[in-house]
Amino acid sequence: MRDHPNSKALLAWYDANARVLPWRVAPVDRKLGQIPDPYRIWLSEIMLQQTTVAVVKAYFLKFTALWPTVFDLAAADDADVMAAWAGLGYYARARNLLKCARTVVAEFEGHFPPNRVQLQSLPGIGPYTSAALASIAFDQPETVVDGNVERVMARLFDVHIPLPTAKVPLIYLAEGLTPRKRSGDYAQAVMDLGATVCTPKSPSCDLCPWRGCCLAQVRGTAAGLPKKLPKAKKPTRLGIAFVACRTDGAVLLEQRPDRGLLGGMLGWPGSDWTEVAPELTPPFHADWVEASEVVRHTFTHFHLQLRVMVASVPQDSSNRHFTKKSDFRPMDLPTVMRKVWSIAAELQ
Ligand code: SF4
Repeated sequence: MRDHPNSKALLAWYDANARVLPWRVAPVDRKLGQIPDPYRIWLSEIMLQQTTVAVVKAYFLKFTALWPTVFDLAAADDADVMAAWAGLGYYARARNLLKCARTVVAEFEGHFPPNRVQLQSLPGIGPYTSAALASIAFDQPETVVDGNVERVMARLFDVHIPLPTAKVPLIYLAEGLTPRKRSGDYAQAVMDLGATVCTPKSPSCDLCPWRGCCLAQVRGTAAGLPKKLPKAKKPTRLGIAFVACRTDGAVLLEQRPDRGLLGGMLGWPGSDWTEVAPELTPPFHADWVEASEVVRHTFTHFHLQLRVMVASVPQDSSNRHFTKKSDFRPMDLPTVMRKVWSIAAELQ
């Protein structure tokens, strides 16, 4: 079976226009025989879930400097990895990252398996990531469909079924274009096309290798695609965070339970986050002062408003374990907890 002519046109475009990304092997080097490092592809794909390329680049460089191989990451201290991940969000990814690295080392001698079925048996690797890894790292003819690819396919075939209902037909259409040769480059090419040319608001059809054969471009419907079902309104939850600072600069932090939101991350003691305002129950008795500003943060499923209570306490005021000033790095906190700290710091 021959590869679809559209895939050839896109690969030619990719050869000239591929984005330079720190985890990517450039098409010219790929043709010269350079092989992508599955560890780097896996790491980048996990980081890219729900996060932009621009944000991921810095984290990727930090992680690969600290842990250049899967063996290094598998041997890393959990707290160091969670701290390095802080700010990237969706913290279950970081916990699964460690589990996956340790499984690859323990059960696969440090080699990621080269096919989707085995890849999906690893922690944190689902249908999308297994397809991306099999395709990009191992050049398997798998179809990789992320938000960019959905948008490109909806336009190329002028699909007006709204997302998420359109997901399955769009995958089917994308499969029909996936070539058997240079499958990894092709997967990256469609993503690059969606990220740089077939952009959400104003696609640059003049620069597109698929202009002329793209139904939405021909029919003038591209800007309105893909259609999406209206999103449900997010509820607002309320909570209270308590920032206790000792006179020697030590602060009271706690590690959140492994399961649940921000699981395993460091944070300030506080109430549950509920749609009804929680009661003010500090972790210990002190002169707690409320900050005039509240923290506002949005998670996937809800908005959060946190009242911030601050207390300055003497060194022997509590039998809790405080983190020494020299060991406290706000950068190790998840974003919402950093916001709490920046408001609390203004009161000290
Ligand atoms: Fe997107 Fe325009 Fe290319 Fe169609 S021609 S795929 S709408 S950039």
